[in-house]
Formats: sequence, structure tokens, C-alpha cells
Amino acid sequence: MIAEMPETAPITSLRQRVGAATWQRELAAGYRDPAELLRDLGLSASDIPGDVPRRCTFPLRVPRAYARRMRRGDPHDPLLRQVLPTSAEAHAMPGFDCDPVGDQASLAVPGLLHKYHGRVLLLASAACAVHCRYCFRRHFPYREAGGGTGDFAQALGYIAARSDLREVILSGGDPLVLPDERLRDLVRRLEAIPHLQRLRIHSRLPVVLPSRVDDALLSWLRASRLQVVLVIHANHGNEIDGETAAALTRLRDTGITLLNQSVLLRGVNDDAGELAVLSEKLFAAGVLPYYLHLLDRVQGAAHFEVPAGRARTLHRELRARLPGYLVPRLVQEVAGAPSKQPLCQP
Ligand SMILES: *Cc1c(COP(=O)(O)O)cnc(C)c1O
Ligand code: SF4
Repeated sequence: MIAEMPETAPITSLRQRVGAATWQRELAAGYRDPAELLRDLGLSASDIPGDVPRRCTFPLRVPRAYARRMRRGDPHDPLLRQVLPTSAEAHAMPGFDCDPVGDQASLAVPGLLHKYHGRVLLLASAACAVHCRYCFRRHFPYREAGGGTGDFAQALGYIAARSDLREVILSGGDPLVLPDERLRDLVRRLEAIPHLQRLRIHSRLPVVLPSRVDDALLSWLRASRLQVVLVIHANHGNEIDGETAAALTRLRDTGITLLNQSVLLRGVNDDAGELAVLSEKLFAAGVLPYYLHLLDRVQGAAHFEVPAGRARTLHRELRARLPGYLVPRLVQEVAGAPSKQPLCQP
């Protein structure tokens, strides 16, 4: 059974905005009703293992451009599985909690996380185009943590005062849901901080909403004095269709570095053959695999977990199939550690 999901405000209001860019209209027009998504895929809630819940604090959100890559009539489609709320999320599991990676302990000032040497992570936006069911920030209290407020003054003050910082990571949420004027303004203020050399952007938009990669975005990326690294997020080869590959190629042509991070997810990509296809499709579009993360143990995502032993085996199989530069680093985030932790296996 499915009922109405609570509407969440900020993106809907764009629907009315005159002069909104194509991507903003597409963002506003994304699926929010699981019943509608399932119907368009030729499925019904009864086809889905477990129930589709009536209510959900982290409701369904999926751009239509992403849903078009799902296989019709397949309740086990790996893209659908990443985005469809199911009753499995309600099972409380020991060891799975709301802040699995210690984000709240590493808030330097409101909206800014400082965990690792030389780089800080700015919670530039609290919103995303897609709600990934396994997201480690699905319970993140953006409001209390000062993320996505649009007020970057304290964060910029902290960055300016720390001359050991070389890199700022725009994250969220998804920073690219912000309008280009806002991003351009933020980036100009970062460029004015002399010790900064690199700007990193963590975004799933080029994958789930490729129309986001428009001339306005490309123009401020191209103009920055900072070296720009864009880390996209795709977990399965089916996420890279022609439209996304074309968007990635346009990004590459601006001269920025493109990397991908994935999360190892049961029932989505826990297969060496699928992971190899993903790496090859990414590289064909100009993107190097960066990290393959073990699932962060966030409440509601236990059904996605691939145990560390199995992850190591998959990673060994992947290394046996691909050139080294197409093998992402298998890592796990451990709260309090000085970097993401590699899961090595000789
Ligand atoms: C993951 C993360 C980074 C980036 O780590 P890299 O190993 O440089 O990719 C930076 N800051 C925070 C808070 C993070 O969680
Ligand atoms: S796009 Fe990233 S931050 Fe947003 S829900 Fe998905 S995993 Fe979480």
C-alpha cells in the first residue's frame, strides 16, 4: 500500500519560477510518488519484496531522466532498488545509527566539517535531486548543523584563517542543486582565499540529472583559478546512459578532473562483473574510479550491507579483471580516523 508522501518545500517552488533553467524544471518535475514511479515501470507495490511504506521521513525523490534508465517490469532493477523506499528500512538493527561516520563531532563551525588534513567539507546544500535509500546523511540534522542555510560567512572565515587548508569540498546534500549564480558567488569568495588551490565538488547530479551540465555551469567551472575536481557518484553501469556520458564529456572538455565514488550495495552492484562494466563505462566517458565505499552503517540501510570479507573478495576479483587504474580503492569510513581506511587484501 502506498499513500501520499509529504511534500518537501524548496524544490517544488521552482516549478513556478519564471526563467528557471531546463534542469531546474526537470528537478521540480521529478517523481515523488512511489505509486506513479512503479506504474510507469509497469509494476505495482505488490511486485516489490516487502512493502512500500505509507509514510517516510526521507521520501522518494527521483528525476525522470534517471528513472528512464530503469528496466520496465523488473522489481529487482538495480537503479530502482537504490531509490525506492521499502519496509526493510524500518527494521532497527544493532550497530546501525543516525550518524555512522561521526559527522556531528567534526563540525568546525556551522555547515563546515573538518576531519582530514588540508581539506574541509562544506555542507553547501541540504537538498538532493535523488534520495538514495542507503545515504549516510539520510538522518543528518542539516538545520541544527547549519548546513544548506545559504550563509557561508562563518565557514569562509574559518577557511581563510587556516592557512594549512588547500582544498574545499562542496557537498551536502548535493551542491549542484544550488543555482549557478549562488555557486559562482561562493566560488569567487573561495578563490579570494590565497592558500586554497583546489575546489572539489561532490555531486550525483551529472548522473541523475544530466541536463544540470549546461552552459552556465560549464562557464564558471572553466573560469575558476582553482583546480577543479568533480567527484560524481554512480554505482551501476546502467546509470551511465548516452545523455550522462555526453554531460560528462562536456565537463571533461572544460579541463577539470572527473572521478567517481560508489557504494558497495547488496542487490545493486555486489558483483565483480557489474563493477567492471561500471569502471569501463566511466572511463569511456572520461571519469576515473576513485573510491568504492563499504556501506556506512546508517539506520534504515542494513539490507544493503555487503560484509567486509565479501567486499575484499569482490575487490580481488575486480583487480584480476581490470587494469589498475580502473580499480577503485575499497575504503571504509571509520569515525575519528585520519583518512578513509583502505580494506587491503594482498
Ligand atoms: C570523505 C571526506 C573527505 C574527503 O576524503 P578524501 O579521502 O580526500 O576523498 C573530506 N572531508 C570529510 C568530512 C569527508 O567525510
Ligand atoms: S545524492 Fe548523495 S547526499 Fe544525496 S541522497 Fe544520494 S547519497 Fe545522499
